[in-house]
Amino acid sequence: MDYDVIIIGSGPAGCSAAHFLADSGLKIAMIERLDRDGFVKYHKICGGGVGEKAFADLPLKDDEIRNRIEGIGLSFPDGKHISIRSKGYIIDRPKFLDRIRKECIDKGVRIMKDSVIDVFEKDGEYTVTGVSGLWHSCKYIIGADGVYSVVRRSLFNSSPKECIPVTEYIVREDPPGDLEFTVGPKYRGGYGWRFPCGGDLCTGAVNHREEMECISKGSRFIPTGGVGDIVKGNAMLIGDSAAMANPISYGGLRTAILSGRMAAKAVIDGNPEELAKWWKGEKYSDPRFMELHRYISELTEEDYNKLSAPLRYKNFWLDGFIACLTHPKNGWIYFGCLFAFRHGW
Ligand SMILES: Cc1cc2nc3c(=O)[nH]c(=O)nc-3n(C[C@H](O)[C@H](O)[C@H](O)COP(=O)(O)OP(=O)(O)OC[C@H]3O[C@@H](n4cnc5c(N)ncnc54)[C@H](O)[C@@H]3O)c2cc1C
Repeated sequence: MDYDVIIIGSGPAGCSAAHFLADSGLKIAMIERLDRDGFVKYHKICGGGVGEKAFADLPLKDDEIRNRIEGIGLSFPDGKHISIRSKGYIIDRPKFLDRIRKECIDKGVRIMKDSVIDVFEKDGEYTVTGVSGLWHSCKYIIGADGVYSVVRRSLFNSSPKECIPVTEYIVREDPPGDLEFTVGPKYRGGYGWRFPCGGDLCTGAVNHREEMECISKGSRFIPTGGVGDIVKGNAMLIGDSAAMANPISYGGLRTAILSGRMAAKAVIDGNPEELAKWWKGEKYSDPRFMELHRYISELTEEDYNKLSAPLRYKNFWLDGFIACLTHPKNGWIYFGCLFAFRHGW
């Protein structure tokens, strides 16, 4: 066997897994399809907004933080605006990933450039084949290869419940102080966002095409709602390959980083099922969030206005509490959204 563990993909999920495995004494390889320029370009397409809890065990360096965030603003179609205190960052994602990759190489993790096209298992050994024609074998395989995961397609034969189209623009305009979201029927359960990403404004839309003049633009899909099983034998899926993004805020960085850590722990403990158990207990694997996602995807302008009617104090908690008391039938919507924006970015 060539390696104890092979990680496919070196995005936030793969890098997190490699980081937490690097000191384990196991022989680790990470395979990434993109060269340096392609990697930076791909990973730059991201709002970069992440709640501070994601970095509890994997601290950011100062130069990887574009902005510190103290709160979130949410605007409704009728102009109502509410605020929620929630700390986090806008990160410089390519810089953060670059540093983790370098640290992993220094600790003996082998990073190879290849695009994996197939993975198969025979007698408890996994064989990974790339377009280069090279193949490698391993005991544990971690699929961190994003929305179109080859590991998932080869070994799990499953797909994400839903893939949400997202377009991002970098615009030279005065950015807001914190994260600003606008909801409404045109986003069909998604939102428009304005993030302060350093000197520039990072803006975009989830579930909506919005053209605007910009310095740069990027579009991709965010998978959400899970994929069913994420562990099969010694094969594991993490991050977007397992569609772990929050079904309401669509933030996927936090779960990508956390799932990487949990996969590493499961390998070190010799028990991949630990990863499945963790995901089952994670709030955003709860199918009720997907139910809420579908429900808000159908809301009309009138529905939004009805929902925003009890929100008077511009404070998410106070407004949410009063709204739940006065409109108990909508309590699950207020509570689910409040929870998702408070904890899930
Ligand atoms: C426009 C946009 C804005 C976003 N903004 C935010 C935000 O502000 N906050 C937030 O929390 N989330 C955000 N997200 C979601 C977030 O980017 C993803 O959830 C997160 O990147 C998932 O990380 P990952 O490592 O699982 O997958 P990815 O980031 O997709 O990384 C996968 C890696 O695997 C590599 N790879 C793929 N296939 C192969 C292969 N066959 N062989 C080898 N390597 C392979 C890829 O090149 C890539 O490097 C945004 C997404 C988009 C599209």
